[in-house]
Amino acid sequence: MAGQSDNGVDVEVLVIGAGVVGIYALYRALDAGFSARTLEAGDGVGGVWYWNRYPSARFDSESYTYAYIFSKELFDEWRWKEEFATQPEIESYLNFVVDRFDLREHISTGEKVASAVYDEAGRAWVVTTEKGTVVRARWVISATGGLSVPHYPEIEGLEDFRGRAYHTGAWPHTPVDFADKRVAIIGNGPSGAQLLPAIVDTVAAVDLYQRTPTWTTPLNNAPISDERQAWLSEHFDEVVKILTTSPSGFLHEPAGKFSTADSPEQRQEFYEKIWRSPGFAKLTSNYYDITTNREVNLEFCEFLAGKIRSIVKDPVTAQRLIPTDHLFGAKRPPFVANYYESFNEPNASLISLRETPIVRVDATGIETTERHREYDVIVYATGFDFGTGALTRMGVRGRDGLDLSTDWEDGPSDFAGFSAHRLPNFFFPGGPHGAGGGNYPRYSQDQVDWITDTLVYAREHGFDVFEPTEAQQDAWMTMIETLAPQSIFSAEHSHYYGANVQGKVRKFLLNPGGRGKLHEILGEMTSTEDYTGAFTQSAPVA
Ligand code: NAP
Repeated sequence: MAGQSDNGVDVEVLVIGAGVVGIYALYRALDAGFSARTLEAGDGVGGVWYWNRYPSARFDSESYTYAYIFSKELFDEWRWKEEFATQPEIESYLNFVVDRFDLREHISTGEKVASAVYDEAGRAWVVTTEKGTVVRARWVISATGGLSVPHYPEIEGLEDFRGRAYHTGAWPHTPVDFADKRVAIIGNGPSGAQLLPAIVDTVAAVDLYQRTPTWTTPLNNAPISDERQAWLSEHFDEVVKILTTSPSGFLHEPAGKFSTADSPEQRQEFYEKIWRSPGFAKLTSNYYDITTNREVNLEFCEFLAGKIRSIVKDPVTAQRLIPTDHLFGAKRPPFVANYYESFNEPNASLISLRETPIVRVDATGIETTERHREYDVIVYATGFDFGTGALTRMGVRGRDGLDLSTDWEDGPSDFAGFSAHRLPNFFFPGGPHGAGGGNYPRYSQDQVDWITDTLVYAREHGFDVFEPTEAQQDAWMTMIETLAPQSIFSAEHSHYYGANVQGKVRKFLLNPGGRGKLHEILGEMTSTEDYTGAFTQSAPVA
């Protein structure tokens, strides 16, 4: 690292993580004239799109709405092949962006942060990596992601398995050979659901171990035609406006009506249209009251159950695939082509862990309460320690001895989902209470923009400490707790409540007020004395 500058730091802004959010944070910091550097744990950039490289990993937000929209030139220079791009294309895009904006020289890969300690006297963070690199920075932007710590199931004997075992969230860089292998996939969230159809034609046999059935619907992907591309480019400003102001951060056309506007027959026709719609449009273009009116949601679920029964030939399997414990949207639904169709293949089976739980993994396979099955490959598609996983494992120590790993044992307390009292100058866009359940990068862009503007404000006004007050944090947390029961992602047994990790406290980890509430609260803060109240003037550095 470069020697310390005059004001006692190596770098003004240190970004941790070079995923979608971290790359943007680095770009914004440099563009705003700060000295900036990134430490990235992986050997390449991309974050989730670097680690989740299992077959058929892809966006389920439209490529051009998930990608960066800060530059029209970039928007025009990168031509996405499909509405929903695959992981290799996404990883190439992120590398393209890094080179296009000369960011690579500022990024150190293979540098996993081991500790981040606030030096109160020096008003700086001292960040140390596992390799022993030490960086002293005025501001830290920890863009470490909510889905970056893979979660393995708490099952006896995981380490005894003698075949190959992989986690979808930590997929190897060398190709995994599935040809003629006996494969188990544990987990049927978006990752497990994407993997099954991608390998079913290659493997000798595949068993999908399902604990909770999901409302999986078709992705309805398509190539992006020249006409579509031209329209997007021509309407760039309009596209940006919608993506930066709509609650969900998608371009989807709203239905424009409540369910009561249609007769029962018209509603069935409407559901057919929704079934054929792309990705998240099944939520965002559905009836306005799909997530607030239990009866209409139940009707839509019955429609989906009918679809599952009509696709899956074996009625017992079909019945097992139909959720009975949550409405559509209450858990994050996967959007995947050919998921249900895969179970019609003679070499694919569904194993219901509700009926026959796993007893243990052993050297040759998996034993359930029903029987033992042998495998060559086990894939853990069992998700992540969502929201808090990375931040609480990074040795973060704030003001007055605050230890983030213990402070957040009862759930994260933060302000605006990206900062916290007693963590001066430390920001975590994309962290807990960050996203509201829409298109993640659009939420994170809001946060990074606000953070960067705040750093610029601090520089212009001679401040070098920003820390939300206890009162600001309490007000934000009250909003989270009050609105959480009203969130569409209300299934308490989902990772949005931390429920997938044994022993993790069950607290809501999204922003139930959504983008509107985030903007309202940040707008209120910046227009009142509360904003300046969160800054402290520079004290002479010893
Ligand atoms: P996930 O949604 O958390 O799903 C994990 C799966 O593993 C669930 O089916 C879960 O069952 C199961 N599971 C967890 N622990 C288990 C245990 N001990 N025994 C048996 N089963 C267990 O994880 P994910 O599929 O990796 O997706 C995580 C997030 O990543 C998504 O919400 C999404 O935001 C993102 N993602 C997006 C895409 C995309 O298309 N762009 C693709 C993949 C992932 P339960 O439901 O019973 O807990």
